[in-house]
Amino acid sequence: MSELIKLTATEIAGLVAKGETSAVEVTQAHLDRIAAVDDRVHAFLHVDTEGALAAARRVDERRVAGEELGPLAGVPVAVKDVLTTKGVPTTVGSKILEGWRPPYDSTIVQRLRDAGTVMLGKTNMDEFAMGSSTEYSAYGPTHNPWDLDRIPGGSGGGSAAALAAYEAPLSIGSDTGGSIRQPGAVTGTVGAKPTYGGTSRYGLVAFSSSLDTPGPCARTVLDAALLHQVIGGHDPRDSTSIPQPVPDVVGAAKLGATGDLTGVKLGVVTEFTGEGAEPGVLAAFRESVDALAKLGAEIVEVSCPHFRYALPAYYLIAPSECSSNLARFDGVRFGLRVGDDGNRSLEEVMSLTREAGFGAEVKRRIMIGTYALSSGYYDAYYGQAQKVRTLITRDFTAAFEQVDALISPTTPFVAFPIGARTADPYQMYLADLFTIPTNLYGGPGISVPCGLSDGLPVGLQVMAPTMADDRMYRVAAALESVVGTFTPPAL
Ligand code: GLN
Repeated sequence: MSELIKLTATEIAGLVAKGETSAVEVTQAHLDRIAAVDDRVHAFLHVDTEGALAAARRVDERRVAGEELGPLAGVPVAVKDVLTTKGVPTTVGSKILEGWRPPYDSTIVQRLRDAGTVMLGKTNMDEFAMGSSTEYSAYGPTHNPWDLDRIPGGSGGGSAAALAAYEAPLSIGSDTGGSIRQPGAVTGTVGAKPTYGGTSRYGLVAFSSSLDTPGPCARTVLDAALLHQVIGGHDPRDSTSIPQPVPDVVGAAKLGATGDLTGVKLGVVTEFTGEGAEPGVLAAFRESVDALAKLGAEIVEVSCPHFRYALPAYYLIAPSECSSNLARFDGVRFGLRVGDDGNRSLEEVMSLTREAGFGAEVKRRIMIGTYALSSGYYDAYYGQAQKVRTLITRDFTAAFEQVDALISPTTPFVAFPIGARTADPYQMYLADLFTIPTNLYGGPGISVPCGLSDGLPVGLQVMAPTMADDRMYRVAAALESVVGTFTPPAL
């Protein structure tokens, strides 16, 4: 096993820039690691060996030619299979897009390429990003490198597991209700959901358009910030993209790493530190709160009374938007087509295709959403949920008048055994109890490892006001400076 796979992205970029290692060498080390462990982890749906080595060679050529390299040039990155990649399979974890090779790159992937990062391949995910364990992938589950019999979180379990298994130093996720932060928490890695509109949705296969937010995953806070800086910022091709520069997340991560939080006021969310969480999770969280106080932060309790309605509101809003977005998968425009034997009507072919192409959870969401939006029920369900969304936003606004950022455990429980929650959808939905309010509000949130419970990682979540992403990086980096990073037992 090459020592190169243990390096942070920052270290890799430094060595490549100085010519002390080559991008090709680094890329090959990660491809070798994937070949050695991914049959057990199953973080990847597709490994683009040729594309990765070609991209790495270009970086090395540019360095030899004396060109200025960006801060992440030569660093391998794994991309959640929800983002389109030109000519490279993009399945969204679904059979309905099996074999589809998009004709264009998503903005995020385009920016990764422009920055000289090396895309290793596409990572496993719950079908259409609906799930909390990666067990709803049509291509089989991903396994948590801490314990291969446990889930790596979801929906972006592949992106998180790839980091924890040292298959990639950086990865990209997407967070609609927690799918970056929750996998980060249960794999002992860092996952950041940027402000909604702070990262482009162009080329992100839509699940719930008012919530979907692509973002960075890494093993350290600084690496996540560097990746955030590269992928973030205004994109005219996304109508909800915010026309402002990325907040100084890298500067904030560096400031936080000095371990000084003097003058920073943090609010512990009362509603998320009660009986909803496992004792081991709460214990690790409480220890971290003490650590943050020792670094100079002022800690207060803040009540956000409407957060308890976030989960039900989300499970009306997200399925409603998904029922509309997923109408485009009709067996005509993309991927799978079933039953087109010349004798069937268009409607029959569409329904056979959707019946065969979508898994059970996706069908459940489409049905809930269609029901919630139907005339006669619209006001009672979708309309009510939107009102709750407003109340949750008001809770955040009121909280941020008192404190700089809110903190809570990222998840109520640590990684659970594969199969433990698939029989009851509600048990699965509970995994996102603490992450969903941030999505409904639209602000940024980060999960940073804060300790272990029974030998499994626990994450602490920092939530900040919209476009104050830098604040959450400062707090997360400060905590990391005292608790360190977390390494799973050797695979
Ligand atoms: N687990 C949540 C869901 O199933 C969140 C998913 C996500 O953030 N993509 O909808």
